[in-house]
Amino acid sequence: MLTVNAIAAPSATEPLVRTTVERRDLGAHDILIEISYAGICHSDIHTVRGDWGPVAYPLTVGHEIVGHVTAVGAEVTRHAVGDRVGVGCMVNSCRECANCRAGQEQYCENGNTGTYAAVDRDGTVTQGGYSTHIVVDQDFVLRVPTEIPIEAAAPLLCAGITTYSPLAHWNAGPGKKVAVVGMGGLGHMAVKLAAAMGAEVTVLSQTLGKKDDGLAFGAQHYYATSDPATFEALRNGFDLIVNTVSAPIDINQYLSLLRLDGTLVSVGAPPEPLPVQVFSLFGARRSFAGSSIGGIAETQEMLDFCAERGIAAEVEVIGADQVNDAYERVLSSDVRYRFVIDINTLR
Ligand SMILES: [Zn+2]
Ligand SMILES: [Zn+2]
Repeated sequence: MLTVNAIAAPSATEPLVRTTVERRDLGAHDILIEISYAGICHSDIHTVRGDWGPVAYPLTVGHEIVGHVTAVGAEVTRHAVGDRVGVGCMVNSCRECANCRAGQEQYCENGNTGTYAAVDRDGTVTQGGYSTHIVVDQDFVLRVPTEIPIEAAAPLLCAGITTYSPLAHWNAGPGKKVAVVGMGGLGHMAVKLAAAMGAEVTVLSQTLGKKDDGLAFGAQHYYATSDPATFEALRNGFDLIVNTVSAPIDINQYLSLLRLDGTLVSVGAPPEPLPVQVFSLFGARRSFAGSSIGGIAETQEMLDFCAERGIAAEVEVIGADQVNDAYERVLSSDVRYRFVIDINTLR
């Protein structure tokens, strides 16, 4: 076992504190990663606060992890010492079900193993990336191209793939009109990626406060959803709407913005149900869908796409002792656009 520095939540209600976590001995297929940066995802906050159900404490979260390989197991072939690598939202899956075999490990029929707060196949509870090191099976470790600034690569491992996967699946590209609901950590990545894929991108945000940023990230249009005229002006306007908001919204109002055969896909996860009027779907054979991160091969494809197109997340780098303040700022949408922890401040 390796004991390494980490930040952990002692309970659902206390601030995160400095502590240590145990990492398993390197198995034949394992990789030891020295972590450089870890992004702060809204899911981290929901999880440590028990919003999505009870978890075991103390808990170290973080699933936007980048660093370098410092040791490899005897049978590792995919990565070598010194490689720049990343780990996203999952660290294992059954590898045998139809979805795993199809490279869709995120939809493992037996449940993928989350990077934190999950019971791994060996019975231990996984601990995430707010930590100096992590041990992960080689099959769940990504190559992070050196063209991407390393701190700006971290959020690609969750926010990047979460938005890339539905954009790719529903064929965002030239001739397609794509709307992105919300301009936070996920939304700003959705705008950059959809624009790079060649789609005509519209941002639907509560206010026009981030309009200049949205246009700079590649959006052609930017509307405030607090203005009722927006929904009138954009009726039947989009092939695809990516909803990144994790608070309840009037989903029927947004469905009315889809043209024939359009799809509204939710990637934000509000704890409450979103009531859908079937009549909202009838009017133009519309679909309401969900999408969860992406498979490992697709995550690599996304990282390579970002490197090729010069895309990365917009980040605000913080030290280990600023994480609790950062959580409050995430909850009040006061971040442009992702906090990333400099893990050197934990050593
Ligand atoms: Zn996340
Ligand atoms: Zn599986």
